Amino acid sequence: MISVGNYNQRLNEAQKDKELETISTHDELTGIHNMRYFMKRAQKMLNKACENGKSLTFLYFDIENFKTYNERYGFIKGNELLVKMATYIKGEYSHGETARLSDDHFVVLIDDDEPQKGIDVIQKRLSDIEGETFLRIKAGIYKTNGMKKDGSGPEDISLLCDRARFAATSIKNKSDKSYCIYDEKLHEQQLRKRYIISHIDSAIENGHIQIFYQPVMDAKKGSVCGLEALARWKDPQYGLLSPGEFIEALEEFRLIHKLDKHVIKLVCEDIRAAMKVKDKPLHVSVNLSRLDFDLCDIAQDIIDNAKDIPRDLLVIEVTESTLNESHTELKKAMERIRRDGFKIWLDDFGSGYSSLNVLKDYDFDVLKIDMRFLEDFGKSDNLRPILENIIRMAESLNMHSLAEGVETKEEYDFLKDLGCDMVQGYLFSKPLILDDLKIFLESDTYRKHTILTG
Ligand code: C2E
Ligand code: MG
Ligand code: MG
Repeated sequence: MISVGNYNQRLNEAQKDKELETISTHDELTGIHNMRYFMKRAQKMLNKACENGKSLTFLYFDIENFKTYNERYGFIKGNELLVKMATYIKGEYSHGETARLSDDHFVVLIDDDEPQKGIDVIQKRLSDIEGETFLRIKAGIYKTNGMKKDGSGPEDISLLCDRARFAATSIKNKSDKSYCIYDEKLHEQQLRKRYIISHIDSAIENGHIQIFYQPVMDAKKGSVCGLEALARWKDPQYGLLSPGEFIEALEEFRLIHKLDKHVIKLVCEDIRAAMKVKDKPLHVSVNLSRLDFDLCDIAQDIIDNAKDIPRDLLVIEVTESTLNESHTELKKAMERIRRDGFKIWLDDFGSGYSSLNVLKDYDFDVLKIDMRFLEDFGKSDNLRPILENIIRMAESLNMHSLAEGVETKEEYDFLKDLGCDMVQGYLFSKPLILDDLKIFLESDTYRKHTILTG
């Protein structure tokens, strides 16, 4: 016979077991399944689909700007948003397996192949949250029969989720897209990305990273007053890779400092060589990534590499987005670079959310106006007053102004008229390897510009 006391104890134990089971299968915050449980369930669904020759669809969800939302409204509101998101996803895909993987990342596995409608509904519900029109979801869709390519058995679940994730990541910053379907093209991109990550060390060792130099022009004189160093990867397998392709991959896998340190080294070598030939060679600016400040002591690296180089010959460019978050270490590192005598230029000004805050918190010598402004040239009457005021503001903050992406003579004349100090763009020259740059500086095209404008 079980006594009442024993019965209660067993009941408590059973409840505890149930709670423990829930903890191990459910996400504590949102109450939907967690990654571990999802993987188990998904494996079962996959095995069954393989047996029956049916296809499955993996969905990966990410809330764009979630970090900004958290910063703006605090942790509690951020958590509330995640709970809402989980409810919306679960509501739309109740027939499938749903889970929160981590942070603002969710995954769904369903056996239908028309999941887009659900995504639209989730986006709409998210936008309907009062005042949150800036919240966007990015969903990745991967349809699969679940089999390995060689037909030897079911594919690895994490690989399949990763394909859906890759599709979602591929539309980051594309405001007109809320979902993307993983296809052959994306598969090729994903392979290239993996290649970049696993070959950065050998690319550096084997001299596949090259520096291209783009001339920066004095707007009034129309002559070259400096150069910007832009990295290129000349790969034996893929040919010439542009930064658009490898910077993002290196940043995502926190390897960007390897490239940037190498670029600084190569540029310093080129400056040293130029100093042997000319008394006063052109100054060169190098681009840093925000992550350089986290991943290495970039200030020390610059100082060490440029030991014997006059401070006015090497310039540091940091993008506005680098400085979005207030970060004491980063600020200290920037101050150290400036204290050591290097100039710091603010790149891509006007491209992000916090351009003006950045100017309040940091000191710069030059403000590089983002080239997207010029995309509206001739299309918007507002462009003139906007650029005019940016240039005046730079002046009043003791900064010079530089406009990037100048492609036509009309744009150049317009900027000169507004009093912009420097210009850079294809009108003058594309980024060139050192030998071609030397030819350019001696060429008729360059002289023609100088004569035209001088
Ligand atoms: P950025 O620093 O703003 O560099 C300017 C980009 O605009 C360069 O692209 C340049 O080739 C391109 N450009 C210049 N003039 C024109 C023009 O008239 N029209 C158009 N449409 N484009 C023009 P690139 O070389 O592809 O570099 C892209 C970005 O990659 C750079 O933007 C920079 O942020 C980053 N990057 C390049 N090299 C490095 C590097 O060594 N380290 C790091 N961290 N980032 C780098
Ligand atoms: Mg730059
Ligand atoms: Mg720029």
